[in-house]
Amino acid sequence: MTHPIPSTRYDLYIDGAATAPASGQYFEVTDPTTRLAFAEAARADRSDVDRAVASARRAFEGEWATWRAADRAAFLIRFGQLIGEHAEELAELQVRENGKLMREMLGQTKTMPEYFTYYAGLAQQPTGVTTPVHLTAMMNYTVREPIGVVAAITPWNSPLMLLAYKVGCAIAAGCTLVVKPSEITPVSTVRFAELATEAGLPAGVFNVVTGLGDVGAELTRHPGVDKIAFTGSTATGQAIAATAATTMKRLSLELGGKSPNILFEDADIDSALNGIMAGIFGASGQTCMAGSRVLVQESIYDRVVDELARRAEAIRIGDPRLPETQMGTVASEAQYDKVLHYIGIARDEGARVVAGGGAATVDSLPDGLFIRPTVLADVDNAMTIAREEVFGPVAAMITFRDEDDAVRIANDTDFGLAAGIWTKDVARAHRVASRVRAGTVWINNYRKSGYSTPFGGFGMSGLGRENGPDSLDAYTEVKSVWVDLGQGVKDPFDPRA
Ligand code: NDP
Repeated sequence: MTHPIPSTRYDLYIDGAATAPASGQYFEVTDPTTRLAFAEAARADRSDVDRAVASARRAFEGEWATWRAADRAAFLIRFGQLIGEHAEELAELQVRENGKLMREMLGQTKTMPEYFTYYAGLAQQPTGVTTPVHLTAMMNYTVREPIGVVAAITPWNSPLMLLAYKVGCAIAAGCTLVVKPSEITPVSTVRFAELATEAGLPAGVFNVVTGLGDVGAELTRHPGVDKIAFTGSTATGQAIAATAATTMKRLSLELGGKSPNILFEDADIDSALNGIMAGIFGASGQTCMAGSRVLVQESIYDRVVDELARRAEAIRIGDPRLPETQMGTVASEAQYDKVLHYIGIARDEGARVVAGGGAATVDSLPDGLFIRPTVLADVDNAMTIAREEVFGPVAAMITFRDEDDAVRIANDTDFGLAAGIWTKDVARAHRVASRVRAGTVWINNYRKSGYSTPFGGFGMSGLGRENGPDSLDAYTEVKSVWVDLGQGVKDPFDPRA
């Protein structure tokens, strides 16, 4: 696949057009397979954030407000189709930014037309109810109105997919957006915004500010922003929540995880091993839903550890663009250092490395940020490696005695994003699913998600849910309207009048 990168310099995207940053400064965007810059992105400052927010506000109060739900739905379908036509180009751009596998990326970009068809459907669904009230000759109805200007702050692990979720819902609801992508993956988002304009979106509905340092915080503080939709680390989510509280911005936070993947002795072990591998080695482990704590019943623990180690060592690490590659790089040097650091801590605290345990070298890409799929045995749930999000290909293998012990260990975490359960006992599968505190539970599968099912977490894994039939609730305010059906106000002091 040799699509040319459309440009090596990417400006901000404000008011429907590429816009140079006020500072005139750009920063390098690096390919993690070479550690070489392949593009540069604009470095926004506060005045650029002001311009982008003003543009989104003008659009919200201007032409965009006159678009009917049917018009927004028609746009979303056109936009999805255009993304589908550019699926390879977008996938290639994101692979250059973060080293994700081309085939996984194509799986995402080629199905994006479906996402947008789904959001188009949501745009046209009823958004309010008429409720019986306790008073006679009165009625009440509710309407859901767009929240306003949404700041979407997106991470580097799946910048386009997580952006599509936010953009699709915001536009279906009638909001406008200022998007701040991660500095590691800024340019695929700019291209996405260009395609939205090409598909007929009015200027100002979808703005992009790229930058380093304080841009996300500027947006979070900005009085012109009504809602923040953030996916990223729990620490940054907490900082955003604290700042957003000063102006009472609405929040959706999809944060970190330390998800248990629970393997009972009666499971289909081969299928479970594949699910465990998908959960922790898919996308080089850089997913919020990573099944990073593998809980294995003690009777099969040694056998599972040995077999997982064997399979981990056999994973084909290499150029993420090649179809035969099973694991690419991690996304950045900071992440590379972080993952290796956590492996070191685990060793120091007594974990036994049975596969991987360090950097990998790939002859054709000697400077690539490759890490060997790592399996750590003898992990106790109190160890750092079992408590903190690593966001890399590192499986912490923990043993449990019985169902109660499995549930206890699974729930002994600050997070609550996801959990996997592997068993042939249907009753146990549902019992454990109800006892595990997690926003998503997979029974005999792992790492499945999609636009039509809610996703989000308990506890420190965040606030709210993205996707599913209720997605638009997080992008709308409910207004309750009381109507006097003709009796008039007879007595100003009678509360029932
Ligand atoms: P962060 O989650 O910390 O997000 C960084 C983004 O948030 C940047 O775009 C940054 O913009 C913005 N930001 C930082 N501070 C603030 C603030 N106070 N207000 C608003 N926005 C802010 O990701 P990192 O790249 O630092 O990754 C660190 C760790 O996060 C990873 O190792 C991984 O564990 C986890 N992570 C989790 C993800 C998930 O899906 N749950 C996704 C990606 C990372 P700016 O710099 O311009 O302020």
